[in-house]
Amino acid sequence: MDSGQAKNHTIAIIGAGIFGLSHALAAAKRGGRVTVFERSRECQGASIRNFGMIWPIGQPFGHRFDLAMLSRKLWQEVAVEAGIWLNPCGSLFLAHHDDELAVLEQFAKLADEHGHPKQILSAEQVLRKSPVVNRHGLRGGLYSDTELGVNPPQAVRVLAEWLRSLPRIQIHYQTPILRVESGTERPVRVQTAAGAEQEFDEVFVCSGADISTLFPEVMATAEFRLCKLQMMRTVAQPSGVKIGPHLASGLTLRHYPAFDNCLAIHDVRARIAKQSPELDAFGIHVMASQTDCGEVILGDSHEYGTDIEPFDKPQIDELILRELKKIIELPSWELIQRWHGIYAKYSADCYWSAEPIYGVRLFTGLGGNGMTLALGLAETYWAERTSSSVV
Ligand SMILES: Cc1cc2nc3c(=O)[nH]c(=O)nc-3n(C[C@H](O)[C@H](O)[C@H](O)COP(=O)(O)OP(=O)(O)OC[C@H]3O[C@@H](n4cnc5c(N)ncnc54)[C@H](O)[C@@H]3O)c2cc1C
Repeated sequence: MDSGQAKNHTIAIIGAGIFGLSHALAAAKRGGRVTVFERSRECQGASIRNFGMIWPIGQPFGHRFDLAMLSRKLWQEVAVEAGIWLNPCGSLFLAHHDDELAVLEQFAKLADEHGHPKQILSAEQVLRKSPVVNRHGLRGGLYSDTELGVNPPQAVRVLAEWLRSLPRIQIHYQTPILRVESGTERPVRVQTAAGAEQEFDEVFVCSGADISTLFPEVMATAEFRLCKLQMMRTVAQPSGVKIGPHLASGLTLRHYPAFDNCLAIHDVRARIAKQSPELDAFGIHVMASQTDCGEVILGDSHEYGTDIEPFDKPQIDELILRELKKIIELPSWELIQRWHGIYAKYSADCYWSAEPIYGVRLFTGLGGNGMTLALGLAETYWAERTSSSVV
């Protein structure tokens, strides 16, 4: 671009998931005039299909953890402004095996060294934090106060509606974009599926797991892995029972790179590979979060490959429920929803970006971290570009 400034630039953003909306917010704050195009009647991608965990604890200490903490601050700000339900619930990792407790203790030591202390809890202390934890075999846990919870469909809908109410942002739903073209200077032309053409100074493509509609040849060079995850949601828990913090099992320690520097993780991995290879086969680890309505979101599995099956596997849901029942005892396990979500994961970094033609930037590849990182990533990108400070 000939200018890093956003002021009065006309900016099109393709995709009203959390990454697109985060860019819309950050660009508009700096004076950009933003139009978001979303092909569905509202976002129906990964951003409404997740646990709603704003999850700094899963990010390695350093740059990524700092980004997650910036996102956390931004979530707190937009929640107040837009009226999004945001739960400062923290997170609780449960250890039902000695090797899991060893990982948590090693992690707590690392966290201390990085200046982000976490609390190791005895079994009794864990039960005081969450009444639904299964006390049988419970060794202890690790509590962190940095995690937040949202109810994803509500959060994304309310965020989009609030952004749309701002003077500098428009959102057009049910408007698939089929083509984006530019020459050697402005404008960039955007063509809708209905054949309408509009011109912008810049275009941002935030198409999530859709890596085959726009710039497929460029997306193909990025070595994404598509991942399908199966999820479930219970009825509202009877008598207003609250699970407390987000809950994660020892299995989850295998999933987040934040725990890779803990030596005991090798023991956890080896035990699970030997005892329950079916969990590795489907990438199963288990977590639970609770919404404002009292429902509990349960998951998940990870099936990688470019050829994502449209059909879900009952066997995976049964394994997820089997493992969850080892660590928590919900008053009601009655399910009201089952679904799967798909994300694109870029392994070399926490997101992927490219500029395939003049004035067009592609942003995707957030993997399982979009709710945690998107707001911070977009804010940092626009602050750097416009030499303005991170808000
Ligand atoms: C099951 C599951 C659980 C997860 N749990 C968590 C969690 O708890 N915490 C966390 O931090 N992250 C979590 N994630 C990851 C997070 O949800 C994703 O990283 C994030 O939502 C990706 O956001 P996005 O905006 O890139 O993509 P999406 O949310 O998929 O949005 C992309 C949007 O672009 C639109 N679009 C695509 N192509 C076009 C086009 N040509 N024209 C117009 N519109 C288009 C799509 O319709 C879609 O609405 C989870 C993901 C899944 C699937």
